[in-house]
Amino acid sequence: MKNQTGLKKHHLFPIFTFSSPISCLLSPFSFLAPLIFSFFIISYSLRAQNPDSVSGLRHQESGERNWALVIHGGAGGPVKGTMSGEKEEAYLKKLNEALTLGSAILSKGGSSMDAVEAVIRFMEDCPLFNAGKGAVLDSDGKAELDASIMDGKTGLAGAVGGVTTIKNPVSAARLVMMKTPHVMLIGSGAERFAKEQGLEIVDPSYFITPERLDQWKKDKIKDHSQLGPRTSDRKEEQKHGTVGAVALDQQGNLAAATSTGGMGNKMAGRIGDSPIIGAGTYASNKTCAVSATGHGEFFIRNVVAYDLSALMEYRGMTLENAAGYLILEKLKEQKANGGLIALDRMGNIAMPFNTNAMFRGFVKSDGTRMVAIY
Ligand code: ASP
Repeated sequence: MKNQTGLKKHHLFPIFTFSSPISCLLSPFSFLAPLIFSFFIISYSLRAQNPDSVSGLRHQESGERNWALVIHGGAGGPVKGTMSGEKEEAYLKKLNEALTLGSAILSKGGSSMDAVEAVIRFMEDCPLFNAGKGAVLDSDGKAELDASIMDGKTGLAGAVGGVTTIKNPVSAARLVMMKTPHVMLIGSGAERFAKEQGLEIVDPSYFITPERLDQWKKDKIKDHSQLGPRTSDRKEEQKHGTVGAVALDQQGNLAAATSTGGMGNKMAGRIGDSPIIGAGTYASNKTCAVSATGHGEFFIRNVVAYDLSALMEYRGMTLENAAGYLILEKLKEQKANGGLIALDRMGNIAMPFNTNAMFRGFVKSDGTRMVAIY
């Protein structure tokens, strides 16, 4: 020990060596001085290496405490003018309520993860959207639900697929992220886990609304499958409703979440892009947070959500250009229907879609806010 201390002293603070007469006089202090000096050096360099503490400080000093929330309620939807005014109003009202709920969390300094989970839970509970209650039905007439969530700060993510009894799949996805070493749980394993975690479990019939049942019966009679490469306009109308949210909180952290019943009349057991990290959902504080909606198979094959992040990270593209390129060029060329919402750390927002409509909206700390369908 003595040798080690001596070596450090010689190396770092030669002025305090015992060979100098002054240092001999100060010898009781020379023992403490290097320790105090080292403490300041180490604590300074730790602060400099921790981006959270640096950006947190910067936010406070400059008074910048920006936050933003963007949501979607699915791409597809009807041609403008074919949906009743009442129904349009009902969708816009729910989108607005979701924004109000999320902004209450973000404006009080709540985390982006809490905001996206709360917003998605709200939309899962709303029968208008194709997620949770009101989900589309698979070819067996069941609602099989997929959801995922990703934390842009830590890079952690969670997902559930093909679940039929978890009232709020997005919360199960978050618990998979927080309480297991895994990213995705599916089917009965996911349901058992959700129950053990104390999430609300419901009978599978809870999710089935008369409108979705009616739609399923019509699809059955016509033996329609929506899984072909190109879909008709009528089928397009039926596909909307997946829900997604991306948020930036006052600490500068991004998060994304998506929840869906998938595509109507899908094969039993089919999993879409929504619970697949990198396809339907992605978040990284380095780039952006993304939630996609549309023909899931294309979004999986094109790894759309991660591709957006990669275009920003490796190509230096802006959020808007990267999002527009993917939806309006790359996917469109493949005749893949859909859209996405994306948000970066500066609060920039992109909401491109290549369908008739995409239910969407955003709210920001600067007071800007909008909801739209077409
Ligand atoms: N992307 C979802 C899926 O393929 C469906 C949708 O967003 O409409 O499961």
